[in-house]
Amino acid sequence: MIRTLETGEQRVFHHPEVQLEEYVYNLKGFFKQHQIEVPVNGIIVFPFNNARINYEDGLFPVLMARELTSFLQQRPMKTKTIDCQYISALLVQHNKPYERFPLSRYYGIEVDAIQTGVICPKCEFGQMHWLKMNWTCSSCHYTSKKAHLSALQDYGMLINKKITNAQAQHFLQLNNRHTIKRMLMASCYRESELKRSRDYQIFL
Ligand SMILES: [Zn+2]
Repeated sequence: MIRTLETGEQRVFHHPEVQLEEYVYNLKGFFKQHQIEVPVNGIIVFPFNNARINYEDGLFPVLMARELTSFLQQRPMKTKTIDCQYISALLVQHNKPYERFPLSRYYGIEVDAIQTGVICPKCEFGQMHWLKMNWTCSSCHYTSKKAHLSALQDYGMLINKKITNAQAQHFLQLNNRHTIKRMLMASCYRESELKRSRDYQIFL
């Protein structure tokens, strides 16, 4: 699918048909599960009006935003009236935020298989070691005070948003609980000092 703007700028997109087919399939399944008879049809609508879209004939109509109203008016519903309020309440009730973290669970990766340690942000290859208050790359000798931040982000996305001092020592490959404590205090959120929780919350 190619979009051409008024300026002549062109951009190639993946055809949204596959994605829409999946939405239609899942929504039909959802309604069936709740014993609701509603016809589900897909329309691909582009939010911009000043563009030309080249596409091959496919399963769904492709429209510009301004064409949508007249398109729907030309196709009156042939089926019985549906209870919109009930259906919208049901959809809201079942709406859950999409949780892709931790990615190890999402992709079925064993946590033990994930490489630990701080990787050099410069050469993106060397392992970094904490020396004299700095991370130093064993390969290109680049130094950084903050190289552990991206490793903590990785931990949060791959393994768990919560991390203890011991887990951070293991993941950053730095066996110094005082240094680790300083790093975690500076970059993470601690749920409650009073509860003496050992967990630090990583911001993603
Ligand atoms: Zn390096």
